[in-house]
Amino acid sequence: MDMNVNGSQITAMSGHTLPGSHQTLARKRKVDNTERSPLKDRKMNVNDTMVNGNKNLPQRSRLPQPSLKRMKLNTPVDNTDLPVAVKKFGSSNMTFSAASTISKIASTRPSIGVRSQYGAGLAKAIQGVGTRSRAVNCAATVTGAIGKKPRVAVTAPPSVETAAAGSKRRPAWDLKGQLSDMKVQLGNMRTRMSEYTSKLEVSEVHSKQLQENMHQRDKQLEIASSQIEELQGNLKAMELLLKNREVELEKCRAENSAMQGVLESKLKLRETELAQKVACIEEQQSTIASLHGVIADREERLYLTEQERRRLHNTVQELKGNIRVICRVRPVLDSEKEACSEIEHVQFSHDDDKVISLTKKEESHTGRDRKEEVKYDFSFDHVFQPMAKQRDVFEEISQLVQSALDGYNVCIFAYGQTGSGKTFTMEGPDDMTPENMGMIPRAVDQIFATAEKLKTMGWTYKFTASFLEIYNETLRDLLVTKPEKNVEYEIKRLNNKSEQLHVTNLKYVTVTAEDQVHNLIAIAKAKRSVAKTAANDRSSRSHSVFQLMIEGSNSNRDLQCTSTLSLVDLAGSERLDKSHSKGDRLREAQAINTSLSCLGHVIMSLSNKESHIPYRNSKLTYLLQNSLGGNSKTLMFVNVSPLEENFSESLNSLRFASKVNECVIGTAQLNRK
Ligand code: ADP
Ligand code: MG
Repeated sequence: MDMNVNGSQITAMSGHTLPGSHQTLARKRKVDNTERSPLKDRKMNVNDTMVNGNKNLPQRSRLPQPSLKRMKLNTPVDNTDLPVAVKKFGSSNMTFSAASTISKIASTRPSIGVRSQYGAGLAKAIQGVGTRSRAVNCAATVTGAIGKKPRVAVTAPPSVETAAAGSKRRPAWDLKGQLSDMKVQLGNMRTRMSEYTSKLEVSEVHSKQLQENMHQRDKQLEIASSQIEELQGNLKAMELLLKNREVELEKCRAENSAMQGVLESKLKLRETELAQKVACIEEQQSTIASLHGVIADREERLYLTEQERRRLHNTVQELKGNIRVICRVRPVLDSEKEACSEIEHVQFSHDDDKVISLTKKEESHTGRDRKEEVKYDFSFDHVFQPMAKQRDVFEEISQLVQSALDGYNVCIFAYGQTGSGKTFTMEGPDDMTPENMGMIPRAVDQIFATAEKLKTMGWTYKFTASFLEIYNETLRDLLVTKPEKNVEYEIKRLNNKSEQLHVTNLKYVTVTAEDQVHNLIAIAKAKRSVAKTAANDRSSRSHSVFQLMIEGSNSNRDLQCTSTLSLVDLAGSERLDKSHSKGDRLREAQAINTSLSCLGHVIMSLSNKESHIPYRNSKLTYLLQNSLGGNSKTLMFVNVSPLEENFSESLNSLRFASKVNECVIGTAQLNRK
């Protein structure tokens, strides 16, 4: 560190001794000596006290000498106290050439410094001197062995006595003085000895530290080399592994190329096979294409045949008349056999299944004793005798059911007195079996079966079923088990443009299989039978109407057809004894009469081609409007009881049926777009 004070430069070196401090001490001693020594006037030269009696040192400082009286004698300071000592030195008003002294020490004792910080400390101290003391007019540049390797070098503290002794010997007689000098020298030597000892201790500590450091480094080195060894071992292992992997890879490559060869040969084989198959497929495709042509041709022919069949079928139906009547006489039930074992009043023809006669012995006009047999002959489209099976009856109507699928509205109803077998004919008995199934389930089965067959010709069908009851001119849904109160069922057109009728709030069920319809029939039957016990056989005084809406479409030919198949179990046609009927019973009777006579009127009006057909006069005729008339096919079952007691009712039924049978309603039209 360089320091400039008043332009002069001092190069000071850190060292164990500070001349200043020794000077101070020496001066103090000198003071003491001057008091005792005869050399009282001798002026102490600070430079003279400098170490080892360097001959080059100037003999005397030209700087003003510090006042010895004001100097305090301190014990010799070690290096650590140097700044303090110098500060103290500086704080005094001594005027002496400290800077030059330090400079000389630095130049002559470059090896004195032990540690660099001593140099720094010294420089700092000198700075303190420079700044604090104006008297010390010196400039010091402190450089030196800062940072140099410390060396234990001790500079002997300056001694005034030694210097004095060196410069001037005591006379031989001055034994006291000599003794005192020697004492001083001894003291100095002791001081130096203790300094040496402390320095040595410091050095030893430092040396120990160095040794420890060395030891630690050695240990670290050992660890590092063992790590290196380990890593080298790992490296070797890795290299070995790598070699193994390379060998394996080579193996895999070889296997792979072998496999590739095999696969390529297989692939080639497959390709040739494939080419053969493709050729085969192409051949088959051309065959299929030609077959498709044949099929299309056949389909076209089939379609034309089907059209022809429908046309002829319709012609046959027309020839049969659009209202056909089938008469069925039920057998005598086991429960009735006691009263009536033989049916005598009903006669059938042996060779004609279209005629039926009722005979009755009536009193002759000529005499009381003679009874004349009165015979009433009727002819219908078919007459079924009591032994006729359900299957036989259905055969007669199955063509009509087919018409429903072809797009015609079809209405089949059963007319007859209560107990004549209407419900048995239309639905079947309560304990239904495939053999005794009625017309409704049979019709449904046939429709689903035929629809399935027609699929191959491109026809798809949607079926929607409903089942209702008309009682006292009010409608009731037979498919709703728990009806909500105050629900109004109204017969309405589907929309302004449509001719199709529907009933508001009625349950329309889309059905996809016959079983579903069988279930619906069972539900309706159960509902009607509940009413039967609850309201004095209400079922006999109500009409039940099962309707199946059929929507067919042929995507191949862009054809659509809609139709409704209605199967109606009419209320009992028996005439009630009006004279005994009162209140509800009378109203009921009137309602039945109204609806049945309305049905008769509608049929008559259609037959007579009247301009106004009174459909709206009853709920039944209004509901069946589209199924009675113009574009519909109607079939009436007239059910007859075999019991003689029912003779007059049977006669009435047959008369009514006969009238209907005479009707020719016109040509039915196909509902096709
Ligand atoms: P309706 O519905 O006209 O009042 P039903 O169909 O209830 O008459 O028939 C009355 C009774 O006669 C029922 O017990 C029924 O099972 C039975 N019956 C009706 N027709 C036949 C038939 N063709 N064969 C056997 N039993 C029949
Ligand atoms: Mg019935």
